[in-house]
Amino acid sequence: MCGIRDMPIVRVALDVPLPTLFDYTVADGIAVTIGQRVIVPFGKRQMVGVVMECVAVTEMAPERIKPVKQVLHDSVPLSAGLLDLLRFCSDYYRYPLGQTVLSALPTRLRSDKPIISRAILTYRLSASGAALNLDAFPKRKVVQRRILAKLAEQPCNLAQLKSLSATAGKQLQALVAEGWVESVALVTPLTPSPSPAGGRGAHAFDNAHTLTSEQQQAVDAVIAAQGYACFLLHGITGSGKTEVYVHLMHHVLQRGGQILLLVPEINLTPQLENYFRRRFPDVSMISLHSGLAEGERLHNWQQAQTGAAQIVLGTRLSVFAELPGLALIIVDEEHDGSFKQQDGLRYSARDVAIFRASQRGVPIVLGSATPSLESYYNAQSGRYRMLRLTGRALAEARLPAVRCININQTVMHHGISEKLLHEIGQRIARQEQSLLFINRRGYAPVLMCTGCGWLSGCKHCAGKMVLHLNDKRLRCHHCGYQLRMPHVCPSCGNADLHPVGSGTQRVESVLRERFPDARILRVDRDSTRNKRAWQVLRELIHANEVDILVGTQMLAKGHDFPALTLVGVLNPDSALYSSDFRAAEKLFAQLAQVAGRAGRADKPGEVLIQTAFPEHPLFCALQTHDFDGWAASQLAERQMAGFPPFMYQAMLRAEGKQAAGVYAFLNQAHAAAIGLKQSVEVFGVVPAALPRRANHIRAQLLIQSAKRKDLQQFLRTWQPLLDILPAQKLRWALDIDPLEF
Ligand code: ADP
Ligand code: ZN
Ligand code: ZN
Repeated sequence: MCGIRDMPIVRVALDVPLPTLFDYTVADGIAVTIGQRVIVPFGKRQMVGVVMECVAVTEMAPERIKPVKQVLHDSVPLSAGLLDLLRFCSDYYRYPLGQTVLSALPTRLRSDKPIISRAILTYRLSASGAALNLDAFPKRKVVQRRILAKLAEQPCNLAQLKSLSATAGKQLQALVAEGWVESVALVTPLTPSPSPAGGRGAHAFDNAHTLTSEQQQAVDAVIAAQGYACFLLHGITGSGKTEVYVHLMHHVLQRGGQILLLVPEINLTPQLENYFRRRFPDVSMISLHSGLAEGERLHNWQQAQTGAAQIVLGTRLSVFAELPGLALIIVDEEHDGSFKQQDGLRYSARDVAIFRASQRGVPIVLGSATPSLESYYNAQSGRYRMLRLTGRALAEARLPAVRCININQTVMHHGISEKLLHEIGQRIARQEQSLLFINRRGYAPVLMCTGCGWLSGCKHCAGKMVLHLNDKRLRCHHCGYQLRMPHVCPSCGNADLHPVGSGTQRVESVLRERFPDARILRVDRDSTRNKRAWQVLRELIHANEVDILVGTQMLAKGHDFPALTLVGVLNPDSALYSSDFRAAEKLFAQLAQVAGRAGRADKPGEVLIQTAFPEHPLFCALQTHDFDGWAASQLAERQMAGFPPFMYQAMLRAEGKQAAGVYAFLNQAHAAAIGLKQSVEVFGVVPAALPRRANHIRAQLLIQSAKRKDLQQFLRTWQPLLDILPAQKLRWALDIDPLEF
């Protein structure tokens, strides 16, 4: 707590793009705690901020320093541990501390209006309420009388009062308005509440399976960890990683600890939430992701903060949840790119989770069938510990047979081979499901003129506009620009315009022509954006009301479709020769995942890959289910080429309307980097992979070093130089450990 006379100054984090805290005085007699939210004047506005430090002196002139306008007591102050984590992130990702702190909070806590979260408040009698004579209180106000009587015994929260009467909430507000009852925010986090079944941490547990010996070894190893340890749980699809998580969670819950489980996709949360609820029927669990309504997100965040939520299931942003009882972190599908945020604070939730585990001295488990090469390398070199699940958990379930179809030696129908169509027909006859997987990258249909070769480019971007057949429009997926589909070529007037490439919609129309009676379901981003809609689709698939599924990566992730026996992969080749050095790694992960969808129940599965390069090592490794061999060859290549995980990278990205301005900025940044003469490699300024987006020219500059420490040291001295470069009319950002090139 800040003293009153000797330390009258607080240093406040504000959502302002400046790498500094802001100093304010606190009026006499007002106590402020570190981590508390305050409202302060900033320029002509007022803003909400978080108190990071209390100090005795400031460099500001006494007449310029302003007082804090209001100290907010409506939420529990952020813990010192969370503030330390955010300080680390701000420094590591080179993002202003104030913006880092504020971006970690739920939206409601970022607004300068005090929140009213009745759920976490405790109510007690005020002095005047305590002086009331209940015998003289109007008899007809039954509920109010009961509330007053209850509060005379002990302070209560809203849930406790609601057990008195369904209208307790409303009557309570009336009592508050009278001044007889007052609310206090909980200042000390609760320890996790003991479950009704008995002592601390006792809970119902549906122990559905006896663990296989590999699963048991994995569970034992994590439980035996004393303090921080990072485990890579490398288990093929269907090997029962989830069962390992469940047993670890059970162990932690018995000891009253909290668990943070990170998943890559919002769409996976309802499914997993239901699953864990079944396994732990009386354990309190909340989810945290950007799809929640603001109020719900705040409520869930506070449940985590008080320790009331024992399991926190969330997407990347939940890595910043307050977790007073944190005892285990699990990152499922740790290789997934969506753990990396691509704007603002460009953090990797997986990496932040690892830092957090070490900060808190708790074990962390990274699970995947196809680990990132970074994690795999760390596990091999002994920095992490490798746990393997090499067999499928269900004895009957075998890995699918993977085969390639050479697209140069077979009849093709608008991107689908005759061979694949034949196999689909057989599945329909056997009442089994097929899945056609489309690699979205470079495969959306664009419009081409057969006369002059014109392609439907976007006039604001370097990319092509994508043909949407259902409403006959061309859309740019980078900037959102759209047009009616032209009837004649805008360049030569020829009326012979043809779609090239094939998207989900075109594949669907080929299938409808060939199998008019089949039930075809297209699943893409648009059809799964809505949580409910996706739930309905899943139920359809499970009820075997679908014959053919057509979809993009959405379908590859963690879903279990028992009747699915055939997976067709339509267009993997563009990733084989991409300029992005991670493209092959991503493709392998995607195909292994999507292949894992086939044959999970008692029926054997088959995967057919359409490619012009059937001998490519990537496909050979997929056919033999040899992740280790594949990873070894990839790592050897990366080491030769000097790429991660043997190098640590930072990317300076800039974009603006004028190419000259963008390049001038990056060239000066380049010169400044060279001038520092530090032990890092400075590459040349180059155009971004998409060199123009929404009329903005984009370019970048890569820095790398074999030592993370050297890179960090360099960035700390380089960034202040960037901050003072002239940068009118352009935006720039540093991206540490970039995933996109
Ligand atoms: P993964 O997440 O590794 O792909 P899952 O955890 O989904 O695999 O497990 C695949 C299937 O095996 C599930 O149906 C699960 O219920 C079952 N399973 C997992 N562990 C066991 C076990 N020890 N005994 C029997 N079945 C198991
Ligand atoms: Zn033309
Ligand atoms: Zn565009």
